[in-house]
Amino acid sequence: MLTLRSARFNKAVTVAVRGLASISFRDSYGAFIGGKEVFPKNGATFNVEDPATGKHLCKVASVNKDTVNQACLVAQEVYQSGKWSRSDVRERARVLNKIAVDLRANINDLAEMEVAQTGRAVREMKAQLGRLPEWFEYFAALIRTHEGTVPPFFGPYVNYVKRVPLGVCGLLTPWNHPLLIAIKKIAPAIACGNSIVLKPSELAPVSVLELAALCSRAGLPDGVLNVLPGLGPEAGQAICSNEFVRKVDLTGGTPTGRAVGAAAGANLAAVITELGGKAPMLIFEDADIDQAVNGAAFATFVASGQTCIMGARVLVHHSKYEVFMKKLTDKALRIRLGDPFDVTTQMGPVISGNSRKRISGLVDRAKKEGAHVFCGADIPSMQPPFDKGYYYAPTVLGVDTKMEIWREEVFGPVVVAIPFRDEAEAVRLANDSPFGLAAAIWTKDVMRAHRVADQMDVGIVWINDHHRNDPSSPWGGQKHSGVGRENGVSALHEYTQTRSVVVRTDDSKWDWFEQPNARYS
Ligand code: NDP
Repeated sequence: MLTLRSARFNKAVTVAVRGLASISFRDSYGAFIGGKEVFPKNGATFNVEDPATGKHLCKVASVNKDTVNQACLVAQEVYQSGKWSRSDVRERARVLNKIAVDLRANINDLAEMEVAQTGRAVREMKAQLGRLPEWFEYFAALIRTHEGTVPPFFGPYVNYVKRVPLGVCGLLTPWNHPLLIAIKKIAPAIACGNSIVLKPSELAPVSVLELAALCSRAGLPDGVLNVLPGLGPEAGQAICSNEFVRKVDLTGGTPTGRAVGAAAGANLAAVITELGGKAPMLIFEDADIDQAVNGAAFATFVASGQTCIMGARVLVHHSKYEVFMKKLTDKALRIRLGDPFDVTTQMGPVISGNSRKRISGLVDRAKKEGAHVFCGADIPSMQPPFDKGYYYAPTVLGVDTKMEIWREEVFGPVVVAIPFRDEAEAVRLANDSPFGLAAAIWTKDVMRAHRVADQMDVGIVWINDHHRNDPSSPWGGQKHSGVGRENGVSALHEYTQTRSVVVRTDDSKWDWFEQPNARYS
């Protein structure tokens, strides 16, 4: 049983975050179920900390399987009521547009909340969150303009095909872009009429809880969007195996993708997975080298390297290798680490002590395997209170393809470099990875740009750029980087299924058993 409380989220202030930030955290947060904040009866919580200082920010309810099952029932009941799932698309579009307006009005507060939970630099978070309303606006427009089909059915029939919602969708989201990734899934899912149970990462759940309350205030019916903070193996698995959940959409690591796919498969629920990456950046001899260095530094070090499509491997034509590596190293050494709330800070910490340990482990093993350290590869010394944070220096390594770090995702501010002799070798090296999420090609030769893009075993290619994303543009990977696509018409298809209606237009009498020549199909 849940102890339902009627309290809506508000800005009750208990823990002030330091520095320039105006945001504050409450002592504790519950789950958000059926439009209400809910504290599970067993009182289980986890702590959320500020990775820049290691300081405690707040406690958040940790839901168990029983609470997940009750939330799924709430989501299923509202879905079956038709209140949202069968509502007029104009009404759904109106609510999505209102969410976009309210989100825009709250961007600064939400961005600062994300800075406090993730340690990402405030400049980055404000720029990223400033675009989030576009996802609600895009999917509001898409459902208003999307049309069904009328396939050429045989005989005296009209066959019209509509897209209808799936039911309850389980969303599992990570900590690196807590709101961006949640919204990439929430906007299409609700636009299409589904109900949602969403488990945010235990490391950064609060902004997603605030978003759910904002959606509710904007008119999303209670129970359509439920947020269940908790642990992956318990709450996440319970979502995957709940009988009402018809689709699971995960952004996370590749091992999590396998666990989620197995549980959802056993439940006969469909799956979308956006997983890890090891994106190559191919720098050809005719590229604008200064711009390519700027682009590669942006690709690698933004978000402290904690993005799935980060520039993880830089492949440079041998004739430009030395000059490129010198410029990239100089640039990495100039990156300002510090208080993420300071607008002049260029890179914050990584998310946790465990994450930093994993990064150092991979880099230390690469050094033992003979990697050349151009810069970084250590824990920088920081002034208090940031000496307790999880900072790691921007790191550039020269490697070979036999090293572990060539293949493994680091998920930190580390790029590995290798020279190539010709285009064929560049393509072979770029595709030499278990992952296939994204790649960047730096060249001024338009024919080469498209020829090489065509040979990349990845879902996203940038030419002379990196990291660019739009609600209309399909997003997802090949190989171990996942299954399915976010964004665009692909997301509308992911969050709907077809219903085919076959209408007889000939009103002459027919009887299969009395007419030997009657047509069967
Ligand atoms: P995780 O895979 O650890 O977690 C993702 C989410 O899944 C979290 O909510 C997590 O809960 C939950 N989870 C963990 N284990 C299970 C399980 N057994 N069953 C169900 N749910 C589970 O990823 P991170 O949060 O560490 O995020 C980093 C990863 O995400 C990187 O590998 C990165 O490449 C990938 N990523 C991919 C993107 C893409 O678009 N392809 C974009 C961004 C990141 P809990 O909080 O308890 O761990």
